[in-house]
Amino acid sequence: MRQKIRDDPYPVSGRGYVHVCPGCGDPLELYDTRDGDQAYWCHRCQRGHRAGSPPPEALRPEQAS
Ligand SMILES: [Zn+2]
Repeated sequence: MRQKIRDDPYPVSGRGYVHVCPGCGDPLELYDTRDGDQAYWCHRCQRGHRAGSPPPEALRPEQAS
């Protein structure tokens, strides 16, 4: 029987990659921006980037379990 994956509090982009903060390494939260786009944001560093144009440092391969 296939179990539904629990809703993950952290957004995962693409296949096997997770968005993390380039500054502190924390998982980023996905927000809707006022212009209808989406952006990842780090509360600790108070900075982020648009979901469509993440810096390479923000994409971290998901650790295999
Ligand atoms: Zn950060």
